[in-house]
Amino acid sequence: MEYKSFLPPKRVLMGPGPSNIHPRVLEAQSRLTIGHLDPKFVELMDEIKALLQYAFQTDNEVTFPVSAPGSTGMETCLVNLIEPGEQVAVCVNGVFGGRMKSIIERCGGIPIVIEDEWGTAVTTSKVEQTLAQNPEVKILAFVHAETSTGARSDAKIISEIGKKYNCLIVADTVTSLGGSELKVDEWNLDAVYSGTQKCLSCPPGLSPVTFSKAAIDKIKNRKTPVQSWFMDVNLVLGYWGGGAKRSYHHTAPINSLYGLHEALILIKEEGIENSWNRHRLNGDLFCKAAETIGLNPYVKEEERLSQLIAISIPEGVDDAEVRSKLLSDYSLEIGAGLGSLAGKVWRIGLMGYSSNKSNIEFCISALRNVMSR
Ligand SMILES: *Cc1c(COP(=O)(O)O)cnc(C)c1O
Repeated sequence: MEYKSFLPPKRVLMGPGPSNIHPRVLEAQSRLTIGHLDPKFVELMDEIKALLQYAFQTDNEVTFPVSAPGSTGMETCLVNLIEPGEQVAVCVNGVFGGRMKSIIERCGGIPIVIEDEWGTAVTTSKVEQTLAQNPEVKILAFVHAETSTGARSDAKIISEIGKKYNCLIVADTVTSLGGSELKVDEWNLDAVYSGTQKCLSCPPGLSPVTFSKAAIDKIKNRKTPVQSWFMDVNLVLGYWGGGAKRSYHHTAPINSLYGLHEALILIKEEGIENSWNRHRLNGDLFCKAAETIGLNPYVKEEERLSQLIAISIPEGVDDAEVRSKLLSDYSLEIGAGLGSLAGKVWRIGLMGYSSNKSNIEFCISALRNVMSR
């Protein structure tokens, strides 16, 4: 067997992530590697923190990218906040809410599940009812943008209800950061995590997180140590929080951080509100165009994400065949349905750099051609 360098095909990525990477981000990632305690690198880390604070719309001191994908951000928020035996309310309306529930259990927590049908937003009255009936619950977790179904939940209202019952609020913003209105401070979210490969248009492998002062207070006052060494925020902060006195915790993924820095500069240049608006307008455009070729969005308009649109697969159309033709004939990737929506929907991503008019036209005409055959 002779091995050659891997040359990836050129794809248009319109699935649930990764999205296409901006050329400036790719170029940034290929720059020379320097040491992770090099003073120049430490300056870069400070800028990443400030740019992340902007993207999250927060002044939280504890804001940094976890060196691992979005699921690790989820786990970082939950393992730090939950002590064994604690009840945690968790909203489950898709795959990622279900993943939160599993992690809560692995932390020794007791999940109090608030369930909603896949393809709908979290029902806020159920949140209120659950918290009223379970006064011991002091943590409320939910997914802002449920990528498995394309539903957007009302983070502001969910947080308001949680605060009324003295809860810390954990929010999954993996798909919403950069793509939907998100205001961490104004909405009083306490532990928020995201990912890089969705609306930030960065390669996967990093998970930006931010913790409020109330969340950090709870972590500092734990009776039991955080069971994960790697994710223990108290230890990570020796590296990410230390100003000039940073010390070794783990070797940061240096080149990935060059990429994240560039992606965040792109968001800053565009303006975060403009980025939200661009996603919204393109999502609307896509849905209108899809309807003209007989494809209907699965989620009702008020609860629909713009950056991830689930489309009902028409009767008699072969799900897997269409997706494989799109890939082979158009080099276009779209997403399959997950779990209970497998075979029922396609998931079309219009995330970050992939959210543009020419992608919409390309995807609609490719779908029309493939389905008419
Ligand atoms: C993609 C995603 C995750 C997981 O991110 P990974 O980088 O795949 O680990 C978590 N939550 C939501 C809502 C996501 O879309």
